[in-house]
Amino acid sequence: MLKTALKWTALALVALSATPALAATCRNTGSYDRWLEAFKKEALAQGISARVIAEASPSMTFDPAIIKRDHGQAVFSQTFLQFSDRMTGGGRIPIGQKKIKQHAELFARIEQKYGVPAQVITAFWGLESDFGANFGNYKILSAIATLAYDCRRPDFFRTQLFDALRIIQRGDQRPADMIGDWAGEFGGLQFTASDYLKNAVDFDGDGRRDLIHSVPDTLASGAAFLVSLGWQRGQPWIQEVTVPRDMPWQEADNAIQHPVSQWQKWGVKGAHGPLASADLPASLILPMGRRGPAFLAYPNFKAFLGWNSAYVYSTTVAYYATRLAGAPAVSHAGKDIPVLSADQIKELQRLLIKAGYKGVGDVDGKVGAGTRGAVRQAQLKFNMPADAYPTAELLARLQQR
Ligand code: CA
Repeated sequence: MLKTALKWTALALVALSATPALAATCRNTGSYDRWLEAFKKEALAQGISARVIAEASPSMTFDPAIIKRDHGQAVFSQTFLQFSDRMTGGGRIPIGQKKIKQHAELFARIEQKYGVPAQVITAFWGLESDFGANFGNYKILSAIATLAYDCRRPDFFRTQLFDALRIIQRGDQRPADMIGDWAGEFGGLQFTASDYLKNAVDFDGDGRRDLIHSVPDTLASGAAFLVSLGWQRGQPWIQEVTVPRDMPWQEADNAIQHPVSQWQKWGVKGAHGPLASADLPASLILPMGRRGPAFLAYPNFKAFLGWNSAYVYSTTVAYYATRLAGAPAVSHAGKDIPVLSADQIKELQRLLIKAGYKGVGDVDGKVGAGTRGAVRQAQLKFNMPADAYPTAELLARLQQR
């Protein structure tokens, strides 16, 4: 299972991919202790040893603060520029570049083996844990057990809990060291337990896959994860571009690819240098619509989205990696574009559904792929530039009907 955007559902307003709808309300009825006993029985049946279960048991406590944190997650919106300015600020670019120099030999070995450049791994390392300085403050066995018991996403976290125990059984970690985020992500790259189990590698040769204490294991595991998500050696990931005033805006979508040569025909140019080779497929992504920053996303961008499906987050990591590789700051044109509130998005979704546009899904105030698709269809119908970006103008047009 791919890492989910648990921590970043706050950014779902501008998410490209649909996020699974959470149960709006649900109630925990059975006792936690009874639930835990049943879980342990199943763990035994799944081949997890009694010794590991006993070792982990004191940590698998119910923590009401986790439930509160999870249920209280507010949906708010930050634009790509707001978020990326914040995430690449605070010294993250010079510090990241210093880390790349400091671990140059290690990064060279990792790139030789996996084909992933230092800047890309460092971008994830910086944003996920401030280069290993901030792992979170929660006991992750307690966090995962609590969320596995809780009624909202029990299946996902039950799997995570089994996998956390398997990480202990494999000798990679001890329960006391497993400190991380409230959603159960931990280590320098904040992997979920399942991603850890599947993708962690031992790169310092001590026989343990240790993504908490070992920098070589952490960075190489990031590369291995990206390769599992489709990373291809020697290819770019994203590149800032300039777009002409007029072009077939409906082509600007992460799901639509054209060869670079086609984008060139439409007038798309590299903002700070030439585009990649003419036959490489690319998508034009406009995180803030046609008036905001523009990127060509090459096939490697899908590895960023696989790591975290929250679109603004993934685009920000990819952009941060280009900054670490020397790209200038992105154009801030369009930074004053008003952003629709969650309530306005809900109104937009209701009106789109009422007008018969397909694929909107739930009226949830979040702009996923379905809502973007419907926005694009409505823009085409109203003869507006079809960049799939929800605006007040479109909302006003739909309200007039
Ligand atoms: Ca190791």
